[in-house]
Amino acid sequence: MGTENPNRPNYPLRPASTPFSAPQSTTPFLSSGPVLGSEASAFRPAPPSSSQFPTLPFSAGPLVGSESLGFGPPPSARPNELVRPHPSLQSSYGPPTTGFQRFPAPPLPSTDHTQHPRASLSGPPVVPPPTRLQGGSVSSEASFFSQPQPPSISMGSPPQNIKTGQFYSNIPPSTDQPFSPSRQNVLPISPMMGPSQATARGTSQSAFPGYASAQPYSSAQVPPVRPPFPSQAGGYAPPPPPAPFVAQPRGYMPGPPVTTSSVPYSRDQVQLHGMAPPIASQGLVEDFSSLSLGSVPGSFDSGLDVKALPRPLDGDVASKSLAEMYPLNCDSRVLRLTTGGIPNSQSLASRWHLGLGAVVCPLAESPIGDEVPIVNFGTTGIIRCRRCRTYVNPYVTFTDHGRKWRCNICSLLNDVPGEYFAHVDANGRRVDLDQRPELTKGSVEFIAPVEYMVRPPMPPLYFFLIDVSISAVQSGMLEVVAQTIKSCLDNLPGSTRTQIGFLTYDSTIHFYNMKSSLVQPQMMVVSDLDDIFVPLPDDLLVNLSESRIAVEAFLESLPSMFQENMNVESAFGPALKAAFMVMSQLGGKLIIFQNTLPSLGVGRLRLRGDDIRLYGTDKEHTLRVPEDPFYKQMAADFTKYQIAANVYAFSGKYTDIASLGTLAKYTGGQVYYYPSFLSVIHEDKLRHELTRDLTRETAWESVMRIRCGKGVRFTSFHGNFMLRSTDLLALPAVDCDKAYAAQLSLEETLLTTQTVYFQVALLYTSSSGERRIRVHTAAAPVVADLGEMYRLTDTGAVVSLLSRLAIEKTLSNKLEDARNFIQLKIVKAFREYRNLYAVQHRLVGRMIYPESLKFLPLYGLALTRSTPLRGGYADAQLDERCEAGYTMMALPVKKLLKLLYPSLLRIDDCLVNSSARADDFDISKRLPLTSESLDTRGVYIFDDGFRLVIWFGRSASPDIARGLLGEDLGADFSKISLSQRDNEMSRKLMKIFQKSRESDPSYYQLCHLVRQGEQPREGYFLLSNLVEDQTGGASGYADWFMQLHRQVQQNA
Ligand SMILES: [Zn+2]
Repeated sequence: MGTENPNRPNYPLRPASTPFSAPQSTTPFLSSGPVLGSEASAFRPAPPSSSQFPTLPFSAGPLVGSESLGFGPPPSARPNELVRPHPSLQSSYGPPTTGFQRFPAPPLPSTDHTQHPRASLSGPPVVPPPTRLQGGSVSSEASFFSQPQPPSISMGSPPQNIKTGQFYSNIPPSTDQPFSPSRQNVLPISPMMGPSQATARGTSQSAFPGYASAQPYSSAQVPPVRPPFPSQAGGYAPPPPPAPFVAQPRGYMPGPPVTTSSVPYSRDQVQLHGMAPPIASQGLVEDFSSLSLGSVPGSFDSGLDVKALPRPLDGDVASKSLAEMYPLNCDSRVLRLTTGGIPNSQSLASRWHLGLGAVVCPLAESPIGDEVPIVNFGTTGIIRCRRCRTYVNPYVTFTDHGRKWRCNICSLLNDVPGEYFAHVDANGRRVDLDQRPELTKGSVEFIAPVEYMVRPPMPPLYFFLIDVSISAVQSGMLEVVAQTIKSCLDNLPGSTRTQIGFLTYDSTIHFYNMKSSLVQPQMMVVSDLDDIFVPLPDDLLVNLSESRIAVEAFLESLPSMFQENMNVESAFGPALKAAFMVMSQLGGKLIIFQNTLPSLGVGRLRLRGDDIRLYGTDKEHTLRVPEDPFYKQMAADFTKYQIAANVYAFSGKYTDIASLGTLAKYTGGQVYYYPSFLSVIHEDKLRHELTRDLTRETAWESVMRIRCGKGVRFTSFHGNFMLRSTDLLALPAVDCDKAYAAQLSLEETLLTTQTVYFQVALLYTSSSGERRIRVHTAAAPVVADLGEMYRLTDTGAVVSLLSRLAIEKTLSNKLEDARNFIQLKIVKAFREYRNLYAVQHRLVGRMIYPESLKFLPLYGLALTRSTPLRGGYADAQLDERCEAGYTMMALPVKKLLKLLYPSLLRIDDCLVNSSARADDFDISKRLPLTSESLDTRGVYIFDDGFRLVIWFGRSASPDIARGLLGEDLGADFSKISLSQRDNEMSRKLMKIFQKSRESDPSYYQLCHLVRQGEQPREGYFLLSNLVEDQTGGASGYADWFMQLHRQVQQNA
């Protein structure tokens, strides 16, 4: 929907290599397969002539017509071919002769034999006749019987007078000829998959030879219900503690018990030691901090006071200085600059080493009472600068008695439209300022008129692509997914406009007709994976409120339909193509549940796995990037058609998340990963996260652009999106949990202005069907002094940008290179800073750093030890690494910082003390992340925003364990899920959990219990995440600080 600038010429398209550059086709039907452009149907005056498509069984246009999908009243007339008998359907929908046993009858009553609506004139029933079930009984009911069908059910309107957008005319040529004739690939049941064959396949075929040995069980076997701990904990057992958990100098064995009153580091101490440089002017004291490191570099014992090292124990505290200078700026929830001081020259910018740029979270949630105001200019139209298209904002100025306004970004003097005119007072303030949120608020939302649409606003659309192979069923995933979707039906955004559809797959692809006239849906199986086509294209995506009964019936029966499924295969790629065909008329959210490595058809993935031999070589990064271009191409196609893909992956075995995640990366989506999913353990997490994904407010078919003042320009963007032109981000779906980073460069050698303005504009369709533009505006001063840049630094934004750059680096370099990149950035920044002050103040032997960046070394260390970057082969399972990379690329600042430096809280006092109330428990009272913080008599919570770990000290009061665990006290902690018990202690703990979870609901923190000394769980869940401790090859905080110091001093 590239009309964020409706009155301007189109943005230049990117070169031909980009997905959006397909040449405009004036004759989509002729030049490219009749795939799925909305034009194909919306503008077709008549059905395709038989000469045009002499052999196509479905002429894609009319059958996939957008008119059926939700923009109004039923069409008054439909082309005749809608009821044209379909030659291939006659045979392909024919009654199967074998194999129906694959789908044991779900508990659905049947009332009628089923017919394909379009095949009804000549075709036999779609769903097979009575079939013998596995259990031996004979059923006269098929899986899904349709009701008698009216000839045509329409949920939509006749073709609208839609403006064509480039997307809808750019139908890429398809080499697959999806609608080619003479196939018999629609089979209610594949004859190949009778129970005997299915079973034989299921047991005799190891899908991925060679990989089984590395796994607890081979893929062809039924996974044990409760696999051993390692796979439960993420599918990877940390390497048996060779030494790291025992032999370290400070080790993992906590020291002698200490009382709470002597917790190793008090915050007062930290601040005391961290702040006051001994010889500095008053001004300098405010500017920087220093730490004495001893006179001999490297002799860190002699001088470094470990306790004095700075720690972000209060979490993320966004810098206030910019907001104080420019109170009209949008909130830092939305936009954070790495430094609020914009360098006035190239030479100054070149001395800034921490990335000049911003992190933007365009839909960040506003606290109650501070919601983004909505402005409707009505017939006046949105007030924008004639030249640079900036939206009117608090920084524009009014002159000429209110008749003109000056653009703050390009300085052009614009006319004020008559309807928008207001007098100005002596100070140039409009007299109506109080009624103009767009002139007083940094964030505002405009209702966009029709010029901002290339088609009617799309309805919210959710399409589910669900793996139903054996592991999906046996792990319990299928059941949890079906129940969760069902429980969300009332809360999906969009009210009566919402569209929904489902597709399941194993070695074949199963479509579901959800037509509103059906009480129960109708299943159709396509088994020809090489040449996918979509049966019943009109009825696979339906209006939820109209088809609610059929949708609920489907979700209720889904788990039982496949409960005996022994199929181990995954035709994921073909299913993905089918989903694309179904969705491409409207776009929407594609929610994928994938349990195994895609093994059949296009997009099948090789078990390339994690090859230890590649680590440390220049081929190492190839493990972390997709091997098959299919996924990136699909993602490009998705984005083009406004489809955002969210990938939920569940396998504990290698699933090539690197490839699957590409779908989310380029479509503005998200990857969720539940390695070795078992519903008994992971159900709550999946349920909560899927619920949030489905019910959070979503912006549809969006594009985002960040404008900025003359002389500066955003040149690179980092996160999950597709770039449509040089600075336009295509985001098929956005929500409050997504953030994007961008780097800024100076275009001129010298900036002459005093202030640089930024404006983020997100053009989107709201779930209620309005086209809207959310606009955030901010200002920052231009500075001529490096010290000022440091003073206005925002560590959170710096870390967010650096982490994205480093993760991207792992896709083309070794992990070590990415870690070195971070270290080098910090060293260069601190060296530059030192050069500013050290010589004149003779601070030899001290590490000096800007107060504003005092936490950077620790966050930098945490980053090098984060899942995407840490160690090597043995330090993180490859899929886990890739998933973490995709996830971190999208995290807002606060969430990212918490993941890097999680909170560690002591809770035993609160639990034991009967007068302590859980409500008063301060979850922000964090402890340093080192094993020295752990008292063997204590009980602690570790919370990184993604999981909670409860650590029980060896000498902790048994009453606590008894109170919290009851009869599970002696059980294997890996198998317990903590639930509330009927006692005060348990209620308190649950209350604390609730507080933690509510403080950030974007992910659900599953709770893991760990006993002190219980290996390898303790190491995996807690000790390896105590980022200040030295583990394996990774530095501890003190050591890291010394390394930085030494490097800063070199060539200083
Ligand atoms: Zn302008």
